[in-house]
Amino acid sequence: MIADEFGAAAPAQMTPLAGRSSDLGAGLLVNRFLPQRALRMVGPWCFLDLMGPVTFAPGTGLDVAPHPHIGLQTVTWLASGAVLHKDSLGYKQEIAPGELNLMTAGAGIAHSEESPAGNSEPLFGVQFWVALPRSAECCEPSFEHLSDLPRFERNGVQACVIMGSLEHLMSPARCYSPLVAAEFSSHAGGALPLALDPVFDHGLCVLSGSVSLRGEACSPRPLGSGTFCFLGGGRSGLELELSAGARCVLLGGQPFAKTIKVWWNFVGHREETLRSALDDWNAQRRFLPVKAYGGSALKAPPWPGNAHLK
Ligand code: MN
Repeated sequence: MIADEFGAAAPAQMTPLAGRSSDLGAGLLVNRFLPQRALRMVGPWCFLDLMGPVTFAPGTGLDVAPHPHIGLQTVTWLASGAVLHKDSLGYKQEIAPGELNLMTAGAGIAHSEESPAGNSEPLFGVQFWVALPRSAECCEPSFEHLSDLPRFERNGVQACVIMGSLEHLMSPARCYSPLVAAEFSSHAGGALPLALDPVFDHGLCVLSGSVSLRGEACSPRPLGSGTFCFLGGGRSGLELELSAGARCVLLGGQPFAKTIKVWWNFVGHREETLRSALDDWNAQRRFLPVKAYGGSALKAPPWPGNAHLK
């Protein structure tokens, strides 16, 4: 890692943020909470889509054709349903709720995402992107599927450490800068005190039920399903209070000193890195085909010219 790569965490706060709706096709509207003007990143987390819940019409489903990524890891995590991932390294992997699909794009990878045939469960989950630090942004692409993640249960709350470490438990998922992603759920409701790293910024995405932070005022309070709240940094702990049936994901990490560039499916520390990835995708260089996908790849939008990059 590069010594001056990281910056200071934001002040502790509870700032609920509205997402914006984005259409992934087949009736799948996602709510995109990151990036947005008011908040570009939470630590290294630079993209957050909340998908569904959606029940697809018979014979339809998620079908995102092959598209490229660089400079990031995609983290797919489901509460319900299934997604079939196929990539240019030759991986073909279905995921179920409670499992992690982690794709490290590094220097470049292409993948597709589909609903597996025969799965009629409503699709409900999240996809996050983690920006890679400068020292790793051009790393070898890789893919991992992890179904055995560290879990604990306390005070009626089930916790799963998806990435990074929490409460002395460490996820085996590969990561490249100090961060955490963890899911909390409760059948009957419960309260869970957690130790946090004060140099991290944190954010909380509520998938279902409602969640509040004990001792902290928030409007609206508590946070309801389908919401995202920026918690800032400087916190050595917090206490999550989950309603019966609540499920949420806590994200955190040490912020980068500089905001990274995000355009289309590319993340990088320099605009030139994104531009050359676009040229290579358009010229069918660098990114190998996703052979297992039965259709054509996505076309890139035009380069935004002098428009600012998110
Ligand atoms: Mn993708």
